Amino acid sequence: MKIKVDKKKCSGCHLCEMVCSLFHLGVLNTEKTAIRIQKDDLNTSLNAPVLCYQCKEMKCLEGEEAVEGLEKKVFIWPIIRAERCPFNALTVFGENAYHCDLCGGSPRCIKVCTPKALRI
Ligand code: SF4
Ligand code: SF4
Repeated sequence: MKIKVDKKKCSGCHLCEMVCSLFHLGVLNTEKTAIRIQKDDLNTSLNAPVLCYQCKEMKCLEGEEAVEGLEKKVFIWPIIRAERCPFNALTVFGENAYHCDLCGGSPRCIKVCTPKALRI
């Protein structure tokens, strides 16, 4: 399973970020979240939700003995994995990187995205 993003539909409301941190950590904190809204202020003013692509070949784990299937289910990752990700897909805040674990199979962000910018 992976989440697809339609940038053109994103309103930039940040609800996805809030529900992600609330579901995993019990707090409303848009910096402790596995999805973040990047704004292109230059030309289009498009809002682009960014999150892990759930790659088959996980460059983020290169050099580790980690079991990919297990790591995919973990929300808080070490920052070094965010640095290895070729897509800059993880949010880094403080000592942690935040990785999309797909909420264990029932993605909360999709449920709150009323413009339907996020889908499975
Ligand atoms: S963190 Fe980056 S490299 Fe790793 S699975 Fe996600 S998108 Fe792919
Ligand atoms: S699926 Fe869950 S973990 Fe992934 S970005 Fe959405 S709310 Fe966060």
